Amino acid sequence: MRLLVTKKEIAKHIFTMTLVCLLSISFKAHSFEQNLYQYGHTVHEQETLQWLWRNAQKFSGIQSIYHTDCPHHLPIYMMTKSKMNKEMCPDEPQYCRNFIGAYDTKAKRILLHHGFMPEEDMIAASFLLHEFIHALQNETISNENMLGSCARLRIMEQAAYDGQNAFLKSEGALFRAGIGMRMMVCPDDIALYSWF
Ligand SMILES: [Zn+2]
Repeated sequence: MRLLVTKKEIAKHIFTMTLVCLLSISFKAHSFEQNLYQYGHTVHEQETLQWLWRNAQKFSGIQSIYHTDCPHHLPIYMMTKSKMNKEMCPDEPQYCRNFIGAYDTKAKRILLHHGFMPEEDMIAASFLLHEFIHALQNETISNENMLGSCARLRIMEQAAYDGQNAFLKSEGALFRAGIGMRMMVCPDDIALYSWF
């Protein structure tokens, strides 16, 4: 999934989310009356958070400097697609139409499509773990160094996908995330390729 970035960046790299979006079709929706739900209220959700937070540290190799047992410092909001679009791209929500999750570097929070049920679905769980890895990266890496260039963004995303896929493999899941990352080309790469 994606870090929460400017609409320019989102437009540039939006293809990375296409596959993720397709998966959301089969997910059941959380039942909540409003268009926002803070994840972690039930015992089952709390156990899921602890399990995924520990695995995010294990598979990213980054130990949290805040909490190693549970992400108490990190709010996770499940929301409808329209609510997420308004949160991520308030000026031009159409740029966000394919996004189902994000780590918000400014507000230090995670936004997830309300169709995700990490406590019941391994693939959904892996995408929350992916966002956890971004949060772990951001504990010691500044927003600028995470998002300041296409090359930096790609490094952060690739590391998150690597951790996510290592987690999926360890759980016996056949699905692999972030296949589109191989197609992500940065302007620096184009300059490099022009030598050949
Ligand atoms: Zn990501």
